[in-house]
Formats: sequence, C-alpha cells, structure tokens
Amino acid sequence: MAAINTNSLDGLYLSNYTDTDETIKRIATTQMQAYHARQLFPCFDEPGLKAVFNLKIIHKTNYTTVLGNSDVANVTEFADLEGWSVTTFNPTVPMATYLFAMVVSDLEYAEADGGLFKVPVRTYAPPPVVARNGATYSADIAAKMEAYIIYYPGESLESYKNLLTSVVSHELAHQNFGNLVTCKWWNELWLNEGFATYISYLGVDGVRPEFRHREWILNDAFQYSMRVDVSARSHPIVNDAVTPDEVDSYFTGITYEKGGSVNRMTEKFLSEATYKKGLQYYLHNMSYQGVVSDDLFHYLNVAAQEDDRLPAGVTVKMILDSWTLQKSHPLVRVSAEGPNSVYISQERYADPASVDLWWVPVTVVTQDAPSLENWVPKLWLERDVPIKSVVHDTSKWIMINQDATGYYRVLYDEGLTPLIADQLRRNASVITPLSRSQLLDDYFNLAYRGNVEIEAALEFTKYLEQEDHFTVWEVIFTQLRQAYNFAQTEDEHSAIRNYLAPKIRPALEKIGLEQNNNVHIGALGILRTKLIDWSCALGDSFCVDYANKLYTEWGQDVNKILPIDIQASITCAIVANNGQAGFDFMMAKYIATPMQNPSKVRYLNALGCSRDAGVLQTLLGMTLDTNSQLVRSHALSVIQRVAMNKQGRRLVIQFLKDQVDRIISILGSGSPSPVSSILSSLSSYVSTQEELDEVLKFVADHAAKFGVINGSINSYLTTIRSNIAWKVTFGKPIISWMGENVSINNSASYANPSLAVFVSLVTAVLRCVN
Ligand SMILES: [Zn+2]
Repeated sequence: MAAINTNSLDGLYLSNYTDTDETIKRIATTQMQAYHARQLFPCFDEPGLKAVFNLKIIHKTNYTTVLGNSDVANVTEFADLEGWSVTTFNPTVPMATYLFAMVVSDLEYAEADGGLFKVPVRTYAPPPVVARNGATYSADIAAKMEAYIIYYPGESLESYKNLLTSVVSHELAHQNFGNLVTCKWWNELWLNEGFATYISYLGVDGVRPEFRHREWILNDAFQYSMRVDVSARSHPIVNDAVTPDEVDSYFTGITYEKGGSVNRMTEKFLSEATYKKGLQYYLHNMSYQGVVSDDLFHYLNVAAQEDDRLPAGVTVKMILDSWTLQKSHPLVRVSAEGPNSVYISQERYADPASVDLWWVPVTVVTQDAPSLENWVPKLWLERDVPIKSVVHDTSKWIMINQDATGYYRVLYDEGLTPLIADQLRRNASVITPLSRSQLLDDYFNLAYRGNVEIEAALEFTKYLEQEDHFTVWEVIFTQLRQAYNFAQTEDEHSAIRNYLAPKIRPALEKIGLEQNNNVHIGALGILRTKLIDWSCALGDSFCVDYANKLYTEWGQDVNKILPIDIQASITCAIVANNGQAGFDFMMAKYIATPMQNPSKVRYLNALGCSRDAGVLQTLLGMTLDTNSQLVRSHALSVIQRVAMNKQGRRLVIQFLKDQVDRIISILGSGSPSPVSSILSSLSSYVSTQEELDEVLKFVADHAAKFGVINGSINSYLTTIRSNIAWKVTFGKPIISWMGENVSINNSASYANPSLAVFVSLVTAVLRCVN
C-alpha cells in the first residue's frame, strides 16, 4: 500500500473540511481515473480489465463513515491496536480499477426519497452541511466540496440547480455506460463519456422536465461542441491515446459533447425505439466487459436490421465510423437548381487538408409540409456520393435537418435564404424552435468564419420580437455578446439598444417581469434571468423601471430580499441608474450583509456598475485604503468589475498607471499578481486602439516590476489586438447594420455599463467534472 497523497487529488489522498466548531476534520478519499489505482495497489490498471475486489480497511474507530464499492459485511475491533476497527466489505461485482473508491471519514448523509430508486441513494457531506447549519460552515468548503452536489432552495440560482442536476444525472448514467460496460481503452472514452453526456439530458428530462433538457442539449452540447470541433483543440472522437498525457487530453468537449451529439443523431436516424432496443442488446451482451466502438455498432446494427431502419447495404458501422474517426463536421449546402429542384451537397467545413466525407442523414421540410413527426431521414448524403437532388418548387422555402439532429451546419443559397427569412417574419412558429435556434447559430458561426456576410445572419434576427424560446435567445446572447462588450461610444450603444431591446421586450412581457415562484423555474426561469440581464443592461426603460420599483420597495423595507435569480442584474441596474444615492444604498447593503451570505458578493459586484466617474474613482480608491469598509479579499475583484464597465475601463487603466506600486504592495505580489489579474480583465473588453496604446504605455513604463508575468502580459496584449481586429471586421458592421434597422425607438436614453450574469461560467465548470 502506498502512502496517502497530501499534495495532489489523485490516488488515495487526504482531504478536509471545517466542522461546526471550526476544527479541521480529515477525510481519506480516492480518485483513480484514469490511471491512479496503481498508486495505491499493484494492478493491471487498464479500463478494459475487470476484477472482483475484496476490501478490508483498518481505521480509527472514531471515523464512522467508511465507504467502498460494495456493502459493508461487518465491522470488528482491530485486535492489534486499541481504538482501531476493521471494516470488511462484501466482494464487488467485476469492475475496472479506475472505479475503485474508498472513503474514511465522519461524513453524514441524506438519503433520496424512497421510490425514486430501487437501491438506497445517499449523498454524503460534512455534518454542518447535512444539518444545514448555514451560519458556521465556510464558503471555502462550499466551493471545494459541495459545488456540484448541494442545492439550497431559495438560496441557489436556478441555473446552478440545472448544472448540478446535470452532474448527478451524468454520474448516474455512468452506472450503465462506464461501470457496467467500460471502454476497453481510453482512446474510446466516448463510449463512457459521450453516453453519460447524452443519457444525462434524458435523465434530467425525466425527473426535472422544467429544465427541458431534450432542447437544452442543442445549446449545451451540440452548438458548444461544434465550436470546439473547428478549433485547433479538436480531435477525432476516437484517436490514439498511449501516454498518460494523451489519456488526460481526451477529457474534452469532443469526447463528451460531440460524443453526446453523435449519440443524439444516431437515436434520431434509427428512431428512438430502435436505438433503445440496440442499446439494450449492447448492455445486456457486454455487461461487465470492456468494449470497443464496434461492439456498440454491432448491436445497434442488429436492431436497425430487425426494424429495417437503414438503406440496403448500409450499416451502423459505415455511418458512425465516418463521425468518430475524423474530426470536424460537414457543411451541407442547399442550392436551387432551376424552378423545380434543389441540390443538397456536403463538403468539409474545417480541416480542408482531409478529403474524407460523412454519411449524412437529411430530413427535409418545406413551406407546404413545414414539420415532421419524426427525424427519420428522407435521404442520405453518402461518403462517396456527396450530392443529391430533390424535387422542390424553389419559389417556396425549404429547410433541412429539422431540430438539428444531424451533426452539421447548413448553408442555403442566396435565392432560398430570403424565403426562410420571410417565413420567420410572417410567422416564425411555423418553423420549429430548435430549427430556428440552429439556423441562427449556423449563420452567425458561418459569418464569423467568413463563409457568409454578417448581414446574412443579422437578417434572420429581424423576426425576434416573436421569439420566446430559450434555445434561440441563448444563441442570440452568445453570438452578440462580443459585439455588445466591444460597443464603446454612446452611438454604438444606442444602435444595439434600439435594435435589440424592443425585440427582447415582448418575450419578457410574455414570461413576466414580476417574480412568480411557481412559473419562473427551470428553463423559463433561466431565460427570464438572461432577458432581464440584457434588457436592463441595454437600458430598456421596461426593465430599468422595474429595477427602480424594486429599489424603492427595498428602501422602504430593510428586510426585503430581491429574488435570487435576478439579484445580479437588478442590483447592477439600481447602481447604474441612481447615481451617488444608488451607490451609497448598495454599499450599505454590502456592509450590512454577512460574509457567508452569497448576496454579499452580488452587492459588491453591483458597486462597479455605476456610470458616475466620480463614484467609480472613489470605489477604486477604497480598494487601496486598508481602513475602508471593503473586505480586503474583495478589493481585487472590485477593480476587475470596474474594468468590465465601459465607463470604468479608462479609469482602471489610469488607476494602474498612477497606483501600480501601491497595487503591488497592498494587494500582494502572489500568483497571479494583481496587475496580471487586472490586465486579464481588461483584455476581455478593451477593443480600441486608443485604449491599447494606453495599456502598452503602462506596460512599457513598468515592465521591470512585473518580472515573471511578462509572458501572460503578452498573451493579454495579443487578445486585445484580436479584439480590435474583431471589432473592425464584425463589431462595427453589426452595430451599423443595427443602426440602419432600428426596431422602435422607445428605450431609455442610457445604457448600463455591463452585463451582470456570467452565463458561460456555468457551462465551463460543468466540463471540469468527470
Ligand atoms: Zn463522466
């Protein structure tokens, strides 16, 4: 047996938590994936090799929660040493070494309600968490240990509930995909993770339908992994993985989210019933074994043949090899060929060095038959026959790949595109929500990669005042965030506000501005949060008036608590729109709120939303005043927050120039240094040459003081240069197009400084979880 690890979180390692009485309690626990079991005991540490484990743990008797992979058979006194016990576990089922787990602790547990599961399902946590003794456990523990498990009703964000429901569902899906059948080697990790990813959406849909995961998968997995798949980070779903570094490099958005999306595509082209049957064959026949992709393909093919789901001579393996053994994805073009037919053709979208193509399932909807009951393909683009023609009256619109079940982007020719845009403006609901979402996602991504003009994408946004579906707004907010962040002048703001705010308002009116705890849950609750964030940030009077109403009520009732999910946006709007008084009010709330209350950080962040230069100067000054009422550990994030604010950015650059020595001496010289952190924040927003020149001058004047951080400074400067280029190529054309296509000019006269909600954070942390 090896020694316990105290400086890494793998093998058998030491963890700890702070108990109710502030004492530090220890936990011995394990993390073996992918190749750490060998640190604890000698073994053939490969996922495809399975063994029965007989485990005895000798431990101090006062550690009462001792866990392994199977039930405890008995606990006896350890004869050789007083105060020690032996916990003996029943033999496990045959399992892979990376799944070996043991815990010695005094954690407590909560058990899931009976009926939901056939076996007891328990969640273990430090006693203060289980007892819900909110006043004494530190936020530090919450961040490290509970982050993906514990939800506090009334205190946790709805988006966070969505995240951790996904995580739990993902891990439960591993019971079949990963634990029962296990990838034989890490090069086919997708057989574990691509399935756990896909099945997790179905699982959440089953128990928490309000999160609408069968739709959310489009934004969260499909659109996300498509962006990864054309980046330098992409790789084939199945690729060589020999060294530990190569194995580690496989836990990516390709293995997880593209793998999940390819599974979704397979389910749709085979039909749900056939897919389910094939998976049952696979799980039944391959239980407790190591598997390769060909095993999966074989059993899916058996089901496909039984149900006659594929064209003659075509197998599941032929199709799925084309999707798993090469990176990138097809671009499918739809082009009119005369008045009565269209050509549908595929080409490589990225990675043009390769000439290989795909087996592409194609569904077709038209103006005369605008929706399908299932996603069974009308035709296949074959690997060797990449172009097919279909009969169609080209004076009417046609779309393919309903609901984006096929893993590819679609580009319509210049004659067909206006017909679709016209249908959207006349009545968007004729086209399904997921098809609308993907159409917009395709065109913005195609534009940002230079395949179409940005105006072609923007043309499809003209109908948005009809739009109330969360998967569409998610695309809009993702694709237009950069243009918003880089809009600097009041004219640029006005253009975006006057175009976008009137389009957001009807959706917000429909969903309801006033908090309704029975309605604003799940996907709808999360959408409302984002709509309010954008509406208030754009400065639409509809939202700003609502924020001010809450502000007035809050002033009259000191005990009032703003609804958690809109706290960030509303507090930001209050400070932005109420000058010194709004700032003083929020500062008082910040000071009066105890540290462990998560609202304290939201009030802090809101302080940086002021549009008053004098107020922002005062705030920046407080960060270096050790007698100020800012909690010291909050000082740096205040500066970063002001850097996000369009009105604050120049002030922060000037503050750096004037105060660099004090920043280093008062805020510390740790790693990353405060100067580096501030430059990092600036680099996400600075997009003008004038600001870059100021940053460059600051760096040139003070470079000697930074020493080791020079490497990261160069990367921030590179980011700013690419921001400037992006703004010239896309930002300015977007803004000027919006200026020419103003919806209705009924908005408030000022825009807020910054969006308050960080949507991307939620998805980013999820990808760190196995
Ligand atoms: Zn996983």
